[in-house]
Amino acid sequence: MTEGTYWLEHAWLGDYVEPGVTVEVADGRITAVRTGTDAPPPGAEILRGLTLPGLANAHSHAFHRALRGTVQVGSGTFWTWREVMYSVADRLTPETYHALARAVYAEMALAGITCVGEFHYLHHDRGGTRYADPNAMGEALIEAAAEAGIRITLLDTAYLSSGFGEPPTAHQLRFSDGSAEAWAERCSVLKERDHARIGAAIHSVRAVPAEGLATVARWVEERRAPLHVHLSEQTAENDACLAAHGVTPTRLLADHGVLGPRTTGVHNTHLTEEDIRLLGGSGTGTCMCPTTERDLADGIGPAVALQRAGSPLSLGSDSHAVIDLLEEARAMELDERLRTRTRGHWTAAALLRAATEDGHAALGWPEAGAIEPGRAADLTTLALDSVRTAGPPPRLGAETAVFAASAADVRHTVVGGRHVVRDGAHALVPDVPRALADAIAALSG
Ligand SMILES: [Zn+2]
Repeated sequence: MTEGTYWLEHAWLGDYVEPGVTVEVADGRITAVRTGTDAPPPGAEILRGLTLPGLANAHSHAFHRALRGTVQVGSGTFWTWREVMYSVADRLTPETYHALARAVYAEMALAGITCVGEFHYLHHDRGGTRYADPNAMGEALIEAAAEAGIRITLLDTAYLSSGFGEPPTAHQLRFSDGSAEAWAERCSVLKERDHARIGAAIHSVRAVPAEGLATVARWVEERRAPLHVHLSEQTAENDACLAAHGVTPTRLLADHGVLGPRTTGVHNTHLTEEDIRLLGGSGTGTCMCPTTERDLADGIGPAVALQRAGSPLSLGSDSHAVIDLLEEARAMELDERLRTRTRGHWTAAALLRAATEDGHAALGWPEAGAIEPGRAADLTTLALDSVRTAGPPPRLGAETAVFAASAADVRHTVVGGRHVVRDGAHALVPDVPRALADAIAALSG
């Protein structure tokens, strides 16, 4: 249903947990929130457990899901991991990518994710040959999200060079439009839909020459669209940028008009004090991807300092080593505890805000991410009676959710008033593990 009544046994209303909340929905939006309703009204859909606003996964590369497990054999660095990632990218077609992304987005729905930011750079056929529809790959992702029942912001990514002054490698020909103007022309054709919005991304300062940065910034400015950029994930990127331009990647972006409240830097790991001031002072967001950053041995970014400087935080599962936004939220705090040997850098409420309201804002869905009248009817319900969550009183539901629950505790996912996951089962993709296994097997075949 996209209209009707939900009764939430417990609801997280931004600062506190409220028992017995009735939510009215019409046309995919919340029209009323009534507290103090001890019993479900007649005919209401009952969501037992703790209901949060839907979770936003602000940084995804869907095809990296095919690497799970296989990249955990042996040693290496980010750069050796990237070679394996490229070999998977080489094998994808619009058909196989659609099947894989549909399964990955269904996994996200099962994890309570109601909106994904897909940082999409695999645009063309092998060798860079254009498909008949030059957006065939992006369209496959938008369709996959529709079939999995979640919202998507397609962050169509400009990726033009392999390094400063270096042409794309053979692998990277599939990513490149040849010029920033050709990138802009191709993505201007993409159409928004009820479940899909179009944003842009700069893969990194390595992959877009400085003269192309302003072209991308202008494109998003005209559309008031979100713009994401991988930023200082690796020290090698900083070193190469300093050698080529004499400035840090953050300063380079600032000098070309890329920073601002609609922009999100992804990772923001290795920053100077000045970088932090530039990002915070311009209101540029920070998307932390802690499970990927630890998986790839990137380092721990200065999220506390960034937020204090004025950079809103969001969270992403990025390479999908795991897909669990609660784990991302928990990991951001726990990484900081290990580094500083003190506790309590963020409250559970602040971490949930990154996973919900601020994540949606970073993806260009400011109407989603809170259980309030006028907001999108996107809800995620966690069991409070599982082996992980039983025991604490419901008023500590936010603390339990962030510090003990996992994606396996998600019982219901509602997107735009539509019940996409019910009692832990996906309503649209009947066997998600099978869909994942089949889609990944097709790539190794
Ligand atoms: Zn990424």
